[in-house]
Amino acid sequence: MVCALPYDERLHPDTRAFLHNQPKRLLIAGGWVAAAAGRTFDKDDPATGITFASVCEGDAEDVNRAVAAARAVFDNAHHPWRRMTPHDRERLMHRLADLIEANREMLAQLITLENGKPLTASEGEVAASARMFRYYAGWPTKIEGDVKPVSIPDRLNYTLREPVGVVGAIIPWNFPLSMIAWKLAPALAAGNCVILKPAEQTPLTAVRLCELVQAAGFPDGVVQLINGFGETAGAALTAHPGVDKIAFTGSTEVGKIIMRAAAGNLKRLSLELGGKSPHIIFDDADLSKAVIGAAYGIFSNAGQSCNAGSRLFVQRRVYDEVMARLAERAAAIKVGPGMTPGIEMGPLVSREQFDRVQSYVAAGLEQGARLRAGGARPPNAPEGGYFLAPTLFEDVHDDMILMREEIFGPVLAATPFDSIEEVAARANHTPYGLAAGVWTRDVSRAHKLAALLRAGTVWVNCYSQFDPASPFGGYKQSGFGREMGHEALELYTNVKSVWVGL
Ligand code: ADP
Repeated sequence: MVCALPYDERLHPDTRAFLHNQPKRLLIAGGWVAAAAGRTFDKDDPATGITFASVCEGDAEDVNRAVAAARAVFDNAHHPWRRMTPHDRERLMHRLADLIEANREMLAQLITLENGKPLTASEGEVAASARMFRYYAGWPTKIEGDVKPVSIPDRLNYTLREPVGVVGAIIPWNFPLSMIAWKLAPALAAGNCVILKPAEQTPLTAVRLCELVQAAGFPDGVVQLINGFGETAGAALTAHPGVDKIAFTGSTEVGKIIMRAAAGNLKRLSLELGGKSPHIIFDDADLSKAVIGAAYGIFSNAGQSCNAGSRLFVQRRVYDEVMARLAERAAAIKVGPGMTPGIEMGPLVSREQFDRVQSYVAAGLEQGARLRAGGARPPNAPEGGYFLAPTLFEDVHDDMILMREEIFGPVLAATPFDSIEEVAARANHTPYGLAAGVWTRDVSRAHKLAALLRAGTVWVNCYSQFDPASPFGGYKQSGFGREMGHEALELYTNVKSVWVGL
C-alpha cells in the first residue's frame, strides 16, 4: 500500500501532485500507458522504508511495443525527427534544459525521495543534467563528415556521420537523472531514438523527465520509457533484434550478461561498469585538502558511485596523521534523511544494498582489518531507514576482500605505502580501471603517476570532478566507450563513406 511520507509538508506542490497520480505509467509511442501484463511494483523511501509510490512494471511485451514505435520513427525517412534540421534539434534540446531548470525543485525532491541522497546533492545533479543537455545542444550543428584525400583519379570520397538508430539506455540508481542525461543528451544530439530503462530502485525521476521531454516538443516515439526490472525489461531490451545499440551503466557482472545478450544482432555497446578506484596521498601533499578529498571521494553519495575512491594509499610518514584526521572527519559527517536540511550523507538506496554493504563490513572484520570509524548504523539514525555510518578500515592488506571487491557503500579501506613504483603497481592490482586520485605537490611525480595508472580518469589534487566537455569511462573491467565530451558522439553515430565517380 502506498503511504504518505513523514516530510509530506516539505514537498513542493508539484511533487505532491506528481505523487498523487499513481501508478506511474510507461511512455510508449507518445502515450502514457499501463504495462501490457497489468503489473505494478512498489517503491520505498530509503530514509524510512515506507512504500510511497507504485510504478507500472514493463516487460518483454512493452519493450516490443516501444521498439516497434521507435523503428517506425527511425526507419521512416520522411518522419519529422529524421528530417529535422540540426538547428531545430538544438532548439528542442535547449527547451528541455530550460524545462529541467524550471522544474529543478521537484526533480531534486524526486531524486532524494527515491535514492535517499541529500537534497543539496540532488539539486546539484539536476543542475548538472541541465548543463549536459545544453552542452550537447551545441553539437547537432557541429557534427561533421569530411572529404578524404583519396588517390584514385576521378573519384570523390566523403564521409557522413549518421545516427546509429534505436538506442536502449539502461540506467543505474545511483544518479537517477545524471545517468540518463549522460546517455540521452548525446544520443538525441546525433538524431537517434532512445528507449530508457531506469533502475527499478529509481523509476520516478525518469517519469518526470520524460514528461518534460514531451513538453519540450520532441516527436512521439523519439524518447520512450519502460520502467521495470533488469532480468525482464532490461534483458528484453538488450536481446531485441530491433535495437541497434545498448548504452549501459551498472555492475561489471551485469555488463557481462549484457554483452552476451547483445551478441544476437551484434549490437553496438558502451559499458560503464564498476570500480575500485585508488586514492593516493603522498607525504608532501596539502594534507587538509587531501583528507577532505579522500572523505568526499568515498562518502559522497554514501559511497554509491562507480568512481568512489574506495582504496586509500597513504605514504608511510603521514599515514598515522591522515588516519586520525580521516577518522575524525568520518565521525563528523551528518548522516540522516536526505530531505532534512544540513544532512551530508543519506541512507543507502535499498535494504538489499544495506545488507550487502554490511556483509562486506562483517567480512572485513572477519579477515582481520582494523575498524577505525563507523561500521554500523549511526546511533541516532531514524528507524526503518537504510543508514550506515561513514566507515574507515585501516591496515587493510591488498588481498583482503575490502581491497578487492566493489562495495558500493561508504566503506574506505586504507593502507600505507613507501615509493611511487610500489604504489603504482599496487593501485593497478585490480580488475577495474575507472578512476584514480593523486595528492602531491611534486609536479613531476603527479604526471608520472597519471601516466602509470591504468584508469580512465586521474584526478590530481582534486577528486570526482565532472564536466560535459570531459570524457569519462573505464579501462579493463570497468568497461569501454567514453561518455561526455565529443567522444560520446562516437558512441551514437556511424560513419558512412560515400564514393562518387566523377
Ligand atoms: P546494481 O547491482 O548496482 O543494482 P545493476 O548492474 O544490477 O546495478 O543494475 C543497473 C541497471 O541494469 C538497472 O537498470 C537494472 O535493472 C539493469 N539490469 C540488471 N540486470 C539486467 C539484465 N540481466 N539485463 C539488462 N539489464 C539489467
